Amino acid sequence: MKQCGKCGVKKEASAFYKNKKTKDGLHYWCKQCLLKRVKELYLLKHQEKLEYHSDYRSKNRNKIESHRKIWASTDVGKASRKESNEKYARSEKGITKHKEAQERYCAKKKEE
Ligand SMILES: [Zn+2]
Repeated sequence: MKQCGKCGVKKEASAFYKNKKTKDGLHYWCKQCLLKRVKELYLLKHQEKLEYHSDYRSKNRNKIESHRKIWASTDVGKASRKESNEKYARSEKGITKHKEAQERYCAKKKEE
């Protein structure tokens, strides 16, 4: 039995991950606590990233837009845009969207 350094609960060795750096070869924290911590850290990082990006976007909206326009007007930009459009048109999502648009158009025509 080993006591978890986080929750303090005594658990079987199998409840701990192996860790070569510790004396007993097991992690200080039990699997449960460790996973919880990893998840927390991940969410925290993820949240930070999201905030950073949305912050950046809202602060640099004009900059991003003008960059996009400049990029779109270059040959490379045009080619890349065309390619991604074609890729989208070939993708399942693109095909579905296209069909939907067609159906909407036909339905509208019938109404008239
Ligand atoms: Zn624990």
